[in-house]
Amino acid sequence: MRTVELAGKSVPVIGQGTWRMGENPEARRDEVAALRLGIAQGLTLIDTAEMYGEGGAESVVGEAIRGHHDEVFIVSKVYPHNASRQGTVAACERSLKRLGVGCIDLYLLHWRGQYPLSETLEAFERLREAGKIGRWGVSNFDVADLQALANPDCATNQVLYNPQARGIEFDLLPWSREQRLPTMAYCPIAQGGQLLSSPVFQQIAERHQVTPAQVCLAWVLRQEGVIAIPKAVSPQHVRLNAAAANLRLSAQDLAAIDQACPPPLRKQPLSMV
Ligand code: NDP
Repeated sequence: MRTVELAGKSVPVIGQGTWRMGENPEARRDEVAALRLGIAQGLTLIDTAEMYGEGGAESVVGEAIRGHHDEVFIVSKVYPHNASRQGTVAACERSLKRLGVGCIDLYLLHWRGQYPLSETLEAFERLREAGKIGRWGVSNFDVADLQALANPDCATNQVLYNPQARGIEFDLLPWSREQRLPTMAYCPIAQGGQLLSSPVFQQIAERHQVTPAQVCLAWVLRQEGVIAIPKAVSPQHVRLNAAAANLRLSAQDLAAIDQACPPPLRKQPLSMV
């Protein structure tokens, strides 16, 4: 599996998302099995958040990584409404308990909220000194937010990125690359939606004998410093996602995607889901 440096560690360029996991007890067994299968396939970076299933996803992750703590890199996130000086620490401690780990490798502010960034950062620093988090970062920050943050310790920015949502290519992505700030791309396969049945993705997939979702992942990963975190519960999807790390798109493929999903020509508001 191709790797990239994130928060001082070497992680796979493809990880596993967990949004929508931990919401339905009947799905839990399959979710745990999917994450374990992903770990076995090399998808050892797992992205979660206290928001997902209101703690349910973290608890699914906790079960899936039992016995595998040394192999995985866990990313979790604090709700903005919890991101005060005290609230961040308390939220992190609840997440640690649900995950069953002593340390979250990378802890993110989920999006910018009502608390001053300085308060959240103070809490992140306290958590880091106490060994409860490895590093910290942010999510859904645009260039202006990162400039307001102005902190070289920030380890990543996690944002929406796929061929249908290319706005960050205009400014955020080049800016982040210049700052050597890794980008984590969420919804990298556009939530498994219509994009996957579009003719251009189907034709490219046929050419490479892969699937349109794998084309999407290879497209997201064509750039340095980008990590993709697709979410999959279906075992077949997990296997395909892991295999997508080996797919390289040609100039012809990229030109066809540019025609179907044009790159931004001007600044666009940051897309979020
Ligand atoms: P994704 O783009 O990862 O799409 C997930 C959907 O695609 C699921 O329905 C899944 O189905 C399906 N799928 C997965 N793999 C394949 C495949 N190979 N072929 C066809 N379909 C496939 O969307 P998400 O919204 O889940 O985003 C990914 C992750 O990013 C989240 O889970 C979360 O961890 C993170 N995220 C972060 C946000 C933030 O604000 N920071 C916001 C949104 C997401 P199935 O599950 O049935 O296999």
